[in-house]
Amino acid sequence: MAKIPSALVQPWPSAGSIGADRRGLLASGEGIYVTDGHGRKLIDGPAGMWCVNVGHRNAELAKVMQEQALELSYNSPWYTTSSPADALADVLADRAPGDLNHVFFTTGGSSAVETALRIMQFANNVRGRPEKKLMVSRQGGYHGSTYLSASLNGRPRDQDWMDSATHLVRKLSSPDPFRRPEGMSIEAFEDGLVAEFAALIEKERAERIGAFVAEPIQASGGVIVPPPGYLKRMRALCAENDILFIADEVVTAFGRLGSVFASRDVFGIEPDMITFAKGVTSGYFPLGGVMVSARLFEELRRSNHPDAMFAHGLTYSSHPVGCAVALKNLELLEGGILDHVNALSGHFQTSLKSLEDLALVGEVRGLGLMACIECVADRVSNNPLTLDLEVGKRIDAHCQDLGLLVRPLINMCVMSPPLTITIEQVDTMVDILRRGI
Ligand code: PLP
Repeated sequence: MAKIPSALVQPWPSAGSIGADRRGLLASGEGIYVTDGHGRKLIDGPAGMWCVNVGHRNAELAKVMQEQALELSYNSPWYTTSSPADALADVLADRAPGDLNHVFFTTGGSSAVETALRIMQFANNVRGRPEKKLMVSRQGGYHGSTYLSASLNGRPRDQDWMDSATHLVRKLSSPDPFRRPEGMSIEAFEDGLVAEFAALIEKERAERIGAFVAEPIQASGGVIVPPPGYLKRMRALCAENDILFIADEVVTAFGRLGSVFASRDVFGIEPDMITFAKGVTSGYFPLGGVMVSARLFEELRRSNHPDAMFAHGLTYSSHPVGCAVALKNLELLEGGILDHVNALSGHFQTSLKSLEDLALVGEVRGLGLMACIECVADRVSNNPLTLDLEVGKRIDAHCQDLGLLVRPLINMCVMSPPLTITIEQVDTMVDILRRGI
């Protein structure tokens, strides 16, 4: 059937449907629910795109947006600042681990990662180490859709037809315990991953590697929770070799794992930079940012090149409306939602885990209020189902008929509902998934 042209181009179209594809009209949202174009009320299983953390139609966030737009709708971040931007920067510096006392605001996650990478490049130029620019990321990772951030992405399908700065990037294995070699212990698997990074440093030489960029939990890669000591050991290798550890917390920050930033509170690490976006405004306004270490900035201030310009900025950096929304959002998260997530996470994970008794399900894994159901061809081989079966999409279609929106990822379904979901609503969600699968 010939596709009908559409003026709206949505992300990730295929060449055969570009400009002729319109997907999934939603009409409204309320709490954990959205209503689609046919009037069907659905649980928002992915919370939009891992971001509607306080839920839809939050009147307090809407009110703050209106008030701030009427007070000061915009200011140039180059020459001026605003009270919400100053206040938000202070609060985030207070909540961030270690000496991450500075924040550069961006418009979302890709621009946050892009900014972090450009800070690394700039810093190493100023420090007189222009050779130290390689970026290390991992298979299965996702970091954005701008040129540098996308170059870090490690899902093969996303790079098949897209150019990227491959000469600047080296990729390590995904720390995916489910896909570790048969018979290997988790400890041996973790040792192997750390040894792989050590070998890469040896081969490329520390003097050439600028940054290691990692999501604490690979989100779009299928909610990959790494082996227990992995992040600490990778962080230690970075410190030993003067490689900046950039934690991409675009998904894991702002409540998804029960804390404002997960690096220290959940994983016990203090990165050199943390990128964030999404949940910082619960998706009500496009905002992101990079937390940067005071030590790094101190070094730049004392460098031999005080006139060197960090020629990087975005018209909407530290947008006053976005910052005002983020402040109120943080107040809501800290006013009870984080506690709710911590109290509910156990039940959320255990109930979803019960789906492992279904023949199609190879593993259910996750942490906090993020989880992934991975479907397999059979439970003996655990081979992923082939792309053309589109099992994730088919589960999504069945679940939508039953009242639940799912985020399909080839053979996986990702669940990351609004953090305000109740225990009863979790049970309904799992019941629908069981019938849908
Ligand atoms: N980093 C991570 C871990 C993400 O999951 C995403 C988006 O899903 C991004 C970066 C890019 O963020 P954005 O889509 O806001 O540019």
